Amino acid sequence: MREVKNYIDGEWTEGKSETIERYNPADQKELVATVAGSSVHDVNEAVFAAVKAKKKWAQTAAPERGAYLQKVAHLFEQYADELAELATKEMGKRFVETKGEVYRSAAILRYYAGEGLRRVGEVLPSFDAKNLFFTKRVPVGVVAVIAPWNFPLAIPIWKIAPALVYGNTVVFKPALEASATGARIVELFAEAGLPLGVLNFVVGRGSTIGDAIVEHKDVDAITFTGSNAIGSEIAKKAAARGAKYQLELGGKNPAIVLKDANIEFAARLVVEGAMKQTGQRCTATSRVFVEKEIIDVFRTHVMEQVRRIRVGNGMDEQVTMGPVVSKGQFETVQRYIHIGKQEGRLLIGGGASDDVGWYIEPTVFDSVSHRATIATEEIFGPVLSIVEASSIDEAIEMANDSIYGLSASLFTNDVSKALYFIEHIEAGMVQVNGETGGAEPQAPFGGMKQSSSGTREQGQAAIEFFTAYQTISIRPHPNM
Ligand code: NAD
Ligand code: MN
Repeated sequence: MREVKNYIDGEWTEGKSETIERYNPADQKELVATVAGSSVHDVNEAVFAAVKAKKKWAQTAAPERGAYLQKVAHLFEQYADELAELATKEMGKRFVETKGEVYRSAAILRYYAGEGLRRVGEVLPSFDAKNLFFTKRVPVGVVAVIAPWNFPLAIPIWKIAPALVYGNTVVFKPALEASATGARIVELFAEAGLPLGVLNFVVGRGSTIGDAIVEHKDVDAITFTGSNAIGSEIAKKAAARGAKYQLELGGKNPAIVLKDANIEFAARLVVEGAMKQTGQRCTATSRVFVEKEIIDVFRTHVMEQVRRIRVGNGMDEQVTMGPVVSKGQFETVQRYIHIGKQEGRLLIGGGASDDVGWYIEPTVFDSVSHRATIATEEIFGPVLSIVEASSIDEAIEMANDSIYGLSASLFTNDVSKALYFIEHIEAGMVQVNGETGGAEPQAPFGGMKQSSSGTREQGQAAIEFFTAYQTISIRPHPNM
């Protein structure tokens, strides 16, 4: 059991708001953490610490800032099992998945450590021949990192690492459901010797301290990943006071399976895309459009794949799908399953049990209209809808008929159809013969339409959010 506290200006202090007990979603008897929730006062102190540390950190050489990230990457690997176990017990994702996330986080840290050695500007021609005309990327200042629980390690890291290497100081607030993992991440930065005040940590409910962070006049930028409802509120508040913001939000990611595809392979990846991490990925596959000629065969393969899934505690190696994160999520997903039974035909699954943990069966609906509630709203659980399509055009049209545009997959062996799909699909992340999930540290990640504020995270794209441009002219003395 862990006690989670604030980390402000290099000190762990008890949060002055309510204390919240956090239980293992796979086993409700196991108390994983008690969280001493931060108060508004704690948030103000954290921001103050970040402000105080800002100048010196910005003036630290970028390669030196990167060297801290290298150290943290090494610590992630050193403590891989422990970190993964903590994350699994805290939010329910399987140990193999959290362990993968640990290594992915280390890769992200190394990537951004390298960014400390890469260019931060360019020399431009000028209409004044004597003008040395160049751009320079400068830190934005104090960055608030507000993270969700579903990638409790990688998402905080892919925000904190670029924030730090580009010279910003940080106030980090994880989701309540990922507080202990968040605190452990911060401990590793402390162990790496990061100067005091550069990374500060507050915990608790967004409803208690969210506004204090988002509306603080000294928070220069807010990077947020989470739901659309909260993201759009943050955007309004940030815009109102001229703060920079970045939102990565929900998805309702489609896969399209054409009649020429390898159907068994497509079914395997669609099920993986839908059920991996118990469907709790922003990039999870939640709608699959299948050409009618092959829909019967596809359905059979999907059922076969789903029957193989073993639901249980993610610490058990035999288990292939863990619980959902919380009672709230358990109820939400069940509500959608209930709606789905009216909107379509329940093909497989549909059951749930809360005797030990928050377990929901992998669930597939068939004969669903693309306008149905379960085919339009983000469920964030192990639920897939199969929709019949008469052609690639109809499939793409239905796939695009969504407020979201995060990721999309096409299964085909026809390169012309793949190119056609790439041209017409409205999604930030596009896959041909791959599942809808999947990101790599060096590549920009993010969605179109309401899935994102339009900025991109990861890769070199991150520099856009975490720095500001300075455009600089230097001219000689007129006599020279
Ligand atoms: P959430 O919106 O409930 O919470 C996200 C974060 O916002 C948490 O830290 C929460 O405490 C905080 N918060 C809550 N109220 C706040 C307020 N009023 N002010 C400021 N902060 C507040 O999301 P979640 O339940 O943690 O995560 C699930 C959602 O995240 C899904 O919608 C999913 O699609 C999305 N997600 C998106 C991506 C992406 O990259 N596009 C990745 C992962 C998850
Ligand atoms: Mn939530």
